[in-house]
Amino acid sequence: MPDQRGFGLSSGEKARLLRRLTQSRAAAAPEPPPPRAKPLDIDELIDPQFARDRDLIRATADLLALGNPFFRVHEGIAGAEAVIDGKRYINFSSYNYLGLNGEPRVVAAAIAALERFGSSASGSRIVSGERPIHRELERGLAEIHGTEDCLTFVSGHATNVTVIGHLFGAKDLILHDGLIHNSMLEGALLSGARRISFPHNDVAAVDRLLGEQRAAHRHAVLLIEGHYGMDGDIPDLPGLIEVARRHRARIMVDEAHALGVVGARGFGLAEHFAIDPAEVDIWMGTLSKTLAGCGGYIAGKASLIEYLRFTAPGFFYSVAMPPPIAAAALAALEIMRAEPQRVRRLNANAARFRDALAAQGIDVGASSGKAIVPVITGASIAAGRLADALFRRGINVHPVLYPAVPERASRLRFFLSSEHQAAQIDDTVAAIVAESAAIGAHKVDYPALLQRLGAHAKTQK
Ligand code: PMP
Repeated sequence: MPDQRGFGLSSGEKARLLRRLTQSRAAAAPEPPPPRAKPLDIDELIDPQFARDRDLIRATADLLALGNPFFRVHEGIAGAEAVIDGKRYINFSSYNYLGLNGEPRVVAAAIAALERFGSSASGSRIVSGERPIHRELERGLAEIHGTEDCLTFVSGHATNVTVIGHLFGAKDLILHDGLIHNSMLEGALLSGARRISFPHNDVAAVDRLLGEQRAAHRHAVLLIEGHYGMDGDIPDLPGLIEVARRHRARIMVDEAHALGVVGARGFGLAEHFAIDPAEVDIWMGTLSKTLAGCGGYIAGKASLIEYLRFTAPGFFYSVAMPPPIAAAALAALEIMRAEPQRVRRLNANAARFRDALAAQGIDVGASSGKAIVPVITGASIAAGRLADALFRRGINVHPVLYPAVPERASRLRFFLSSEHQAAQIDDTVAAIVAESAAIGAHKVDYPALLQRLGAHAKTQK
């Protein structure tokens, strides 16, 4: 006979238990809420030096009555000219090297892709599928670089970070030029490799460092740019290849500012030096400059590209480039190939600008006169004053200040375009010469400025 009492309790026992359980619940005092932990202040994550630098720059700009050159709002396509606050400027602050951003055929290609594929690839290519436009663009880029294959990524910066961070590790050696772009530096840091910076373009230093360090490491790689974005000069690639091969080191070249700029047709550093592209292990580039798009790419041997396609986190786990942007970049690439005169015009404009400035005694650094011409002022305040004076004259150019460059290397950085007119270039040279002289004649009294900055800081407390 089964136990009718359930759980072995009599009905009286059950009632008592029920009472006890319900009473104890009812009688229990409500739990006091746990003491609220003070919310953490997000500002603690912000490096205090940032606020100090920002305030110093603002106070200096206020005292010298300089406008803010950063984050200016452009009202249309920024090319050889730009419209800011309803006013037209001669523009030297965009990477629209061949005037292809906004070019009607590029715009039409982007619109057609937008209508066909929509504005997004909606996921990474491995899961959301391929669009023909990505493969066509990659084939075109591989042809330009003379490599077996190519892979595009959604950001130029992320391309360097993820690829360098992924290919190299703690047992490896990364030697990089002292002026390498931040994205390559971040990739090197992520990799955990031994990282050594060599003096800019110094082939002998690379030879010496490899001689000292190579044997203790598994892989070794040199990171360089095909055309340096800050100085507009180009490296001695044949010299670096010779040294690298002798020490069994690899070479990766960032062609962000070389594509469309360096080489007779703008095909980059390999074309410029007429070297076999296979001498460089990894070619990297961006779509955000000459190609009027956004994103980055790696070109090289098919086996490397296949490996990255399946394993590089910034490709595998990241969305594909938006189809309209891939289409714009492909159309721009085709125009660049069909119209090499654009590259010639760009180079001629840059050379005209550089040579005219140098002839007037203006310091243009080591610019190769291909597209980028720095005007080195040697002090942040002088760079800020010169940029402001030029802006008032209808010329838009940006100062590059410490800490982006050493203080004594502060500069204005001019990006030329194939679309600048000779008169615009000559007028700008004349304005730089006149304003540099005016700034030189009215030197800032630094001790007095510092005193006023001190007083200014006190009134702000
Ligand atoms: N490499 C170099 C040399 C660059 O100058 C830049 C940015 N200007 C990048 C990579 C990053 O490219 P993006 O801005 O297209 O992300």
